[in-house]
Amino acid sequence: MRLVLVGPPGAGKGTQAKFLAEHFAIPHISTGDIFRANLKAGTDLGNQAKAFMERGELVPDDLTNAMVRDRLNDSDAANGFLLDGWPRNVNQAEVLRQIMTEKKTPLNAALEFSLANEIIIERLSSRLTCRACGAPAEAKATKCPACAATDLYQREDDKPEVIARRLAVYEEQTAPIISFYKNEGLLVTIPANGSVAEITKQAISALDTAK
Ligand code: AMP
Repeated sequence: MRLVLVGPPGAGKGTQAKFLAEHFAIPHISTGDIFRANLKAGTDLGNQAKAFMERGELVPDDLTNAMVRDRLNDSDAANGFLLDGWPRNVNQAEVLRQIMTEKKTPLNAALEFSLANEIIIERLSSRLTCRACGAPAEAKATKCPACAATDLYQREDDKPEVIARRLAVYEEQTAPIISFYKNEGLLVTIPANGSVAEITKQAISALDTAK
């Protein structure tokens, strides 16, 4: 299964990605996680991405695309992958199509999570993130629901001013890839409200039907 997740920040892509990657036995590739790991480790890539991430803007395509191209060449991605957070604009979607053509392995689906703006803002501004494993946690949580670590923090880009910018960037730059994948006949859309388990179930059944 070669799968792309599309949807606004806060739609639950990261949470669902973990379950879907496990179900289909494919690696979960999150560009946000890779950037955050580079930021933490103080690599060149992290330093170059830092200012864009802090403003809630997209890191330039040349840096981002090269990073994903490399990751897709790793052996664990040979039999499938789940991309979470990339592509995030039409240029990136075209680069992915090009990579898939070169590898002669077409994408199976682009799974869109749809969610109303009010719910997104409410979710993002009240979520915490686990410093150990990156999973989201509710504002009241005292430990991570995924790994039980107790170091929970608010991501710099989950602060209100940055959330507004991230949503605007989503509308302007990322939403157009929905039509791109619709035209390619790859788009599968599911509503992203409901319990985590219900959404996972719906996603798996929608993907099974689309295959
Ligand atoms: P995320 O965790 O997916 O919300 O990503 C956090 C931040 O990393 C984004 O706000 C961007 O600054 C950067 N980023 C992640 N994925 C991409 C991408 N595909 N293109 C450009 N920047 C990205």
